[in-house]
Amino acid sequence: MAGAHVIDGRAVAAAIRADVQVRAERLRARGISPKCIAIVSDGDASGLLYAQTARRGGEQVGVDIEIVPIGAGADTSGAIAIVARVVEEPSAQGVIIQRPLPKRVDEPSVVAAMDPRKDVDCCHPYNVGSLALGAPRYAPATAVAILELLRTPHVRPLAGARVTIVGRSAVVGRPAAMLLTAADATVTVCHSKTENLEVVCREADILVCAIGRPNFVTAAFVRPGATVIDVGTNVVSGRLVGDVDASVKAVAGAITLVPGGVGPVTTAALLRNIVSAAESS
Ligand code: NAP
Repeated sequence: MAGAHVIDGRAVAAAIRADVQVRAERLRARGISPKCIAIVSDGDASGLLYAQTARRGGEQVGVDIEIVPIGAGADTSGAIAIVARVVEEPSAQGVIIQRPLPKRVDEPSVVAAMDPRKDVDCCHPYNVGSLALGAPRYAPATAVAILELLRTPHVRPLAGARVTIVGRSAVVGRPAAMLLTAADATVTVCHSKTENLEVVCREADILVCAIGRPNFVTAAFVRPGATVIDVGTNVVSGRLVGDVDASVKAVAGAITLVPGGVGPVTTAALLRNIVSAAESS
């Protein structure tokens, strides 16, 4: 496929990880071991995969990630008890709760048990409020990854750019909209009830796709020369594919691929948040 400039997520991630490694070494020299506990529900295969990938990435740069399960039998109070115990663990400066949580668990009650100071993926309402006001303690890793990829060469400056985000989840779409607004972009957020989705998307200088539907976004959604960020991670016949169809590469000016785009930068951004938490512990 010829066409769009491919924004190299692995290169962006490598630069972040190099910085993390240096900072982790400095911390160890002071007797501090950067560590995060990832709380993952039993049965959440993609959440577990994400946490395991982060753990492997962390091993390479001196950041420890321990995975703690929410058992299949745990209800809301059981899940709250796990979070309340984990946030008290003195060896961990960061905690993440892998979302979405199972339907039997009331997610807002569980995230409210997070210690805002250890909330390295920004789920606690206090930190989400700070993010909305433009000054988050730790911005959510996937939203940060989107910004990092948009700040590479061959992408127009964010200030004044028309950005359309497809997806309004608490984990990706909404935080990305807040960070992009703070970066002076003009942001439109779309979802399953948006009318004339293709038309709205075609108005964008930058199109961010966080839907969770394989190859949903075709060339008809993309203004020629626009930048397209594909956040989707969908497994189809054992293969990882994004939300963006291969046809888009011929129309876009710049694009991220799956794999090798948002994913590795998200992991690196999470590791950076953990090191930052360790530095301020
Ligand atoms: P989610 O919670 O399921 O949200 C999906 C969003 O897409 C919702 O806002 C939904 O609208 C919207 N949507 C669904 N079908 C649509 C349609 N036909 N037209 C327009 N909008 C539609 O998913 P998520 O957690 O945000 O994740 C989205 C994707 O990103 C998934 O593939 C996930 O695996 C991936 N992801 C990747 C990373 C990474 O680091 N690479 C990190 C997190 C997530 P409604 O709100 O109206 O339902």
